[in-house]
Amino acid sequence: MKQQRSQFRAIRGVRDILPPESALWNRVEQTAHHVFATYDFQEIRLPIFEETELFARSVGSDTDIVSKEMYTFQDPLDLDQLVKAYAEGGPNPYKKAFGREGLKAALWEVMPEFQWLTLRPEATASVVRAYIEHSMHTLPGDVKLYYMGPMFRRERPQKGRYRQFYQIGAEVLGQSDSPAIDAEVIEMLMAYLDRLGLSGATLYVNSIGCKECRPEYVAKLREELLKVKDQLGADSQRRIETNPLRVLDSKLEHEQAIIERLPRISDHLCAACREHFAELQAQLKLRSIEYKINWRLVRGLDYYTRTTFEITAPGLGSQNAICGGGRYDGLVELLGGPPTKGIGFAIGTDRLVLALQEAGKGESASHIDVFVAWLGRAESPVYAAAVKLTRQLREEGFVVELPPEEMKLKKSLGLADKLGARYALIIGEDEIASGSFVLKRLADSEQRKLSESELLNYLKSDENRKVAAAQRQS
Ligand code: ATP
Ligand code: MG
Repeated sequence: MKQQRSQFRAIRGVRDILPPESALWNRVEQTAHHVFATYDFQEIRLPIFEETELFARSVGSDTDIVSKEMYTFQDPLDLDQLVKAYAEGGPNPYKKAFGREGLKAALWEVMPEFQWLTLRPEATASVVRAYIEHSMHTLPGDVKLYYMGPMFRRERPQKGRYRQFYQIGAEVLGQSDSPAIDAEVIEMLMAYLDRLGLSGATLYVNSIGCKECRPEYVAKLREELLKVKDQLGADSQRRIETNPLRVLDSKLEHEQAIIERLPRISDHLCAACREHFAELQAQLKLRSIEYKINWRLVRGLDYYTRTTFEITAPGLGSQNAICGGGRYDGLVELLGGPPTKGIGFAIGTDRLVLALQEAGKGESASHIDVFVAWLGRAESPVYAAAVKLTRQLREEGFVVELPPEEMKLKKSLGLADKLGARYALIIGEDEIASGSFVLKRLADSEQRKLSESELLNYLKSDENRKVAAAQRQS
């Protein structure tokens, strides 16, 4: 008989984000809410799964994501609904088309089309789907949206690469494809990383042309690649046919010298794309944003046009891209919407958090302000006073730990110390009788006797000093 497991573990490639690291995640997300809002972006909350076809069509079926990384499943619920709709004889195209006998076979036939769902591998497709579904093109001005949440790709798990990972992304959809939009989106991104205190990030930009000039370049590239086919690895050989641009993305050591000699897109851009790229660079300079041009930056997704960009951070090994983005002017139309321009980016939150930790910006200071060391039995007035004072301190915004059971003073102070609390507040019968409490600073054991109102004032002024010190540091 199969032995029953006594414990469970998270499945391969997915993980728990535990305290205290979760505090850093909160800071990263809160800062995004704040900074993006100042650029007038608003949050959109999207479903975690969509029809498979949405990703197949937008991301592109030749991409790694769609061809091998998606978590796709059939949803049996929809089948029930179809059967029910048929039985009730409601508006049901299948009844007419197939007749009663053919129902099962017919349902089986249509299932692949109607019931394949996929855990989202990225969110731009969903944003665009929502933009079309809710006719957002009728809204005044550009539509500026941001999102955050988990994405799913079946990749080989390693540091900075997970099967459930998180992204924070933003998109601008509207009628203009002005490079000023691209530059402002990039400015927002850099301002955000700056606010988080990330240093050493590098911005790479490129233009991959448009549907006017790219096909010609791709044909040229394919031609040159065919000449060196024998020297390429299996992946690149396959991509000569399916997606030659992706060869430029290769990390294989022995292919690097070959790739360096390939034709470059910058020499094949049409006049409009050349001008767009030059203006983007002028706009970045205007904003004092440093960048490097990387002609090999093609991005893995099919829907990109013109501007592409990527940001890398130090200390992450080969998974050093913390953000990717670009322009996708044809995507809305491809998904059945009106002609619309678009640009956006997605930050890999997991990697951003790792980069902040590497940069020494991941430490969160001890979070407990006051540990209430109360002495007496639970039914004593001491405990009642401790509960009341704890509530007051919390209302003032302090983080307070109140032990649920009586503890000896030594044990209490020991625990406060282990938890990293800044202060222990000692409340015993004597303190209640005299109306003053002992506040002990745990770092240096300095003690002071304070009345209730003095206590609040002291902690508040100390809090101010703490905030001021933190600001000086950053
Ligand atoms: P990579 O080349 O590293 O595989 P990508 O081009 O597939 O990245 P995008 O689809 O552009 O990545 O997603 C944007 C960002 O999301 C990446 O720059 C990265 O920070 C993050 N990301 C992508 N895949 C993963 C993953 N499996 N685990 C963690 N973060 C990821
Ligand atoms: Mg990838």
